[in-house]
Amino acid sequence: MAKVLVLGGGFGGVIAAERLAEQLGDEHQITLVSRSRQFVFYPKLVKLAFGKAEINDVSFDLRQTMLNRRVNFIEAEVAYIDPFDRTITIAHGQVEGKLPYDYLVFALGRRLATERIIGFYEHAHHLLNVGKAINFGKAVKDLHTGRAVFGQCAGARLPVPVYESAFALARRLEERGERERVRITVVSPTTLDLELRDANAAAAIKKALDAHQIEFLPNLRIESLTENLAITSGESINFDLLMLVPPFRGSSAASHLGITDEEGYINVDSTMRVAGEERIYAVGDCTNFDGPKMGHMAVRQAEVAAVNLATQIEGRAPVSHYQHEMRFVIDEFGADSLYLRKAFSTDEPATVRQGRFWSWAKQVHEKYWEVSHS
Ligand SMILES: Cc1cc2nc3c(=O)[nH]c(=O)nc-3n(C[C@H](O)[C@H](O)[C@H](O)COP(=O)(O)OP(=O)(O)OC[C@H]3O[C@@H](n4cnc5c(N)ncnc54)[C@H](O)[C@@H]3O)c2cc1C
Repeated sequence: MAKVLVLGGGFGGVIAAERLAEQLGDEHQITLVSRSRQFVFYPKLVKLAFGKAEINDVSFDLRQTMLNRRVNFIEAEVAYIDPFDRTITIAHGQVEGKLPYDYLVFALGRRLATERIIGFYEHAHHLLNVGKAINFGKAVKDLHTGRAVFGQCAGARLPVPVYESAFALARRLEERGERERVRITVVSPTTLDLELRDANAAAAIKKALDAHQIEFLPNLRIESLTENLAITSGESINFDLLMLVPPFRGSSAASHLGITDEEGYINVDSTMRVAGEERIYAVGDCTNFDGPKMGHMAVRQAEVAAVNLATQIEGRAPVSHYQHEMRFVIDEFGADSLYLRKAFSTDEPATVRQGRFWSWAKQVHEKYWEVSHS
């Protein structure tokens, strides 16, 4: 019998646990440990902020869903991993102490390094959890005039909600007859081409931004914030409402293990096994891959890890390999919604499609996840 611990109840951890339960016999024990029993469907947080989704649409209780799939669930904080002793120490939860493992799947996501931007905590809104999305939504309701600024900080790896929130605000203001009273700006630490990794996608989004009179300011690395000013090395940008994606770093739970790059992301090979570790796999935002950090990557990596871990337990060699690619929809909530798919392993241009269909497709995908997991 093998004891498998899956750490983290996000896209990566949930899919890894589900797939392992499907592939391993009943004699093996699978346990998912996460600090909250609530799974959060992050791609829907923009809709939550803009009143187009309810809290119940963006989160569900993991415990019952996991039990239905033969996975034990422990709500606790992962405090320490000891790969020599093969234990993890858990705290602040229903049980505390050490849990032994034979195999580990690390899926604890990324850390928000807000401390890197002075004033971030006090002056910026963000959308990286349910509470913050609700607060941002309240601020949107109160904005009737002035300037709204959206953007990523250097080291942030998530362009989609930046553009979606800028489009959502423009539409909200158009509906309220207040569009002319609010200036909307998107700032980027790089250029649109580099952010979206494709010139055609960048041109399509720029056209949509122009159509909504949203200005785009490239190459601005925000270093600090005051109540109404975002300060960069060159210039300062005034704002009345600011939504920023903070810098990301790898999970601090991996930092002592000697398995990460300089930003704290875990080094894995294409089988999703941690480099130099026989019994540890890592999936999702915590891993060291180029480009943005996205849910579909976490899902695919978890599927690959689960197949290979199951074959390893059976004493066979890995059979599945992860191909890194980026796929997303930027929902403009209308005909300028954009689908992009790009493989990182080739120089081939991305597949780019634009149209209202992609807004519907994103909604259908969200609904499918909700129905199959709640
Ligand atoms: C607003 C927003 C919009 C997005 N839109 C899209 C989109 O349109 N398309 C797309 O593909 N992706 C999108 N993403 C990105 C996507 O949500 C992430 O890439 C995905 O959630 C990563 O999954 P993960 O399992 O690696 O990490 P997470 O989902 O972050 O899960 C990590 C889990 O580990 C738990 N955890 C962390 N540390 C500990 C600890 N020490 N102890 C116990 N538990 C711990 C956390 O509570 C969490 O449950 C969006 C993200 C946001 C925030």
